[in-house]
Amino acid sequence: MKRQDSKLCTVCHRPMTWRRKWAKNWDEVKYCSAACRRDKSKRAKLQDDQTPTTTTQPSR
Ligand SMILES: [Zn+2]
Repeated sequence: MKRQDSKLCTVCHRPMTWRRKWAKNWDEVKYCSAACRRDKSKRAKLQDDQTPTTTTQPSR
């Protein structure tokens, strides 16, 4: 069996080292931190919303 010692965060794409607390759900771990986890959902939401704050206004 091949043991994965490192993984890439799906959000920031940074290599995260295996942690003991992840031993149980290492396969489910996708984010290096809670912040990234939030960011992911945030991004998805933003993508879905897609409401530009700055509308194309003619600088007149
Ligand atoms: Zn991350």
